Amino acid sequence: MAGRGVTRTRFAPSPTGLLHLGHAFSALVSAGKASPGQFLLRIEDIDRDRCKPEFEAAIFEDLAWLGLEWRQPVMRQSDRMAVYRDALSYLGDLGVTYPCSCTRGDIKAALSAPQEGALIHGPDGLIYPGTCRGRSMRDLREDDVIRLDAGRAFDLIRDNMLSFRDGRAQVLGRDAFLSGIGDVILARRGMGTSYHLSVVLDDAAQGIGLVTRGLDLFDSTWIHVLLQRLLDLEAPDYHHHRLIRDEDGKRLAKRDDARSLRELRGQGLSAAEIRALVGM
Ligand code: GLU
Repeated sequence: MAGRGVTRTRFAPSPTGLLHLGHAFSALVSAGKASPGQFLLRIEDIDRDRCKPEFEAAIFEDLAWLGLEWRQPVMRQSDRMAVYRDALSYLGDLGVTYPCSCTRGDIKAALSAPQEGALIHGPDGLIYPGTCRGRSMRDLREDDVIRLDAGRAFDLIRDNMLSFRDGRAQVLGRDAFLSGIGDVILARRGMGTSYHLSVVLDDAAQGIGLVTRGLDLFDSTWIHVLLQRLLDLEAPDYHHHRLIRDEDGKRLAKRDDARSLRELRGQGLSAAEIRALVGM
């Protein structure tokens, strides 16, 4: 951590597209909550197929144009694969992971069996029905993903209850986690890690004391808090901010190029006008 009374925050974009107004808002919120010199940047580039160097360059340029300054060096997730691998093997030794070969179709078919009831979505899509849960990590095959055995994970933590601070204390019990989130993926096919595993390790490594990000990630935070407990990492505080929406109330996505900062800048908007547009 950055030390007593000092708040260190970060902005962690993925270079899979151009930054838009929603990113600008997120970065500004994060930088605004940091103590002087304690705003960090992290490039979340584990998805090698979708990340592009030109988008990474655009991130630096657009954030600087917005008037933001971040502490050096910038962390890049693609440099940290060994750290993710070690954590996965540690979790494997704890007995809380298993390999899984199910496709989305397999999962849907398993969940659509009449006795399973309505399909429930968690932060990562359909709640995994546990088909591969009995498999051993010794049988890990090339095309498998690695999942967290959430039930076993809860067996290892002391009070069967997760909590984190976001303004006030938030709590979630074992049953709610198992039914609403379930056995999430910790290492995606061909990727060697996942957003959840990497973000937890990186926030800890960067000494982030306050994680700021959009409300769309609120439920993912439960996964992160569980991983922090398993990996014995210090838990940061959280601030999940409101989302910037388009005129139809839809959350902005990277494919909405029309609202990219680039495009708006090209139309002659100033950084101050961008701030005003997102209500800052
Ligand atoms: N790379 C993630 C995103 O672009 C960051 C999420 C986070 O801040 O934890 O949404």
